[in-house]
Amino acid sequence: KTWAQCGVSKKVFDVLKKLNYEKPTPIQAQAIPAIMSGRDIIGIAKTGSGKTLAFLLPLFRHVIDQPPLEEGDGPLALIMAPTRELCLQIGKESKKFGKSIGLNTVCVYGGTGISEQIAELKRGAEIIVCTPGRMIEILAANNGRVTNLRRVTYIVLDEADRMFDMGFEPQVMRIMDNTRPDRQTVLFSATFPRQMEALARHILHTPLEITV
Ligand code: AMP
Repeated sequence: KTWAQCGVSKKVFDVLKKLNYEKPTPIQAQAIPAIMSGRDIIGIAKTGSGKTLAFLLPLFRHVIDQPPLEEGDGPLALIMAPTRELCLQIGKESKKFGKSIGLNTVCVYGGTGISEQIAELKRGAEIIVCTPGRMIEILAANNGRVTNLRRVTYIVLDEADRMFDMGFEPQVMRIMDNTRPDRQTVLFSATFPRQMEALARHILHTPLEITV
């Protein structure tokens, strides 16, 4: 498969070229067209497989197709990850592309001050990359005036098995239960333990399972 067959835009393609990413990795070749078709997916993939771009490239397409943000709007896409390190890594990748396509990414994670993150969010962000606990704090901050989930229509759970192991399931569920039912949901995980099946059934609509 080529990038063109994955349906990426000209501007995104130019960034991929500049990074010398010649062609999609196997997980990208399978997941990107499936996600672009609007399906929910479960992607079983490890770090190093190129999973980040597998969910980011369809995210950009999805977000660009939405009406632009207005004053007071929250993000259009939300990515949840287990750790600060992973948030920053995803955020870095997202910002690299976001610069050329005019999309703002903000990372919110625990273990550091909340006020700078709130200030960044107030400037407006189409994309939030978060750890679940800090995201809940942010949603409650300033009587709920910092940001909101009303316009979120694309959600990613990255390294879902690790979020599960770290005990974040209640926080993840609380966030999911406060998003629109017409959202698209993409779950990536290195493994798919039995205990995750109930969560997956609850948050995904007839997901397509992709393993490489
Ligand atoms: P990930 O599995 O998402 O953490 O990606 C692993 C590494 O591969 C990262 O450094 C990416 O920037 C890089 N990468 C992702 N997609 C491609 C691609 N299609 N071609 C070459 N490198 C890639």
